[in-house]
Amino acid sequence: MKEPEIYCPKCKWRPRAEDRWSCVPSCGTEWNTFWTGGVCPGCKHRWLKTQCLACGEISLHKAWYHYPDGSEPRTVQKSDELVA
Ligand SMILES: [Zn+2]
Ligand SMILES: [Zn+2]
Repeated sequence: MKEPEIYCPKCKWRPRAEDRWSCVPSCGTEWNTFWTGGVCPGCKHRWLKTQCLACGEISLHKAWYHYPDGSEPRTVQKSDELVA
């Protein structure tokens, strides 16, 4: 199993280890969302979408993972992913 490359599906910006996302308006925890697969370590909320810190676009968290062999998991549309 190869490691996926992680970058913004819109602008190809790559998050670095020191980048932080905020759990708002929930608990306000700041953490690197790619270390936890989008799960807030403070309140355990699973963020299905992740905002790019470079271009500001919000994409599905799964869409940030790009597998070199092209075996990207299919995106499953759920009702709570259709917000915004
Ligand atoms: Zn939280
Ligand atoms: Zn971007």
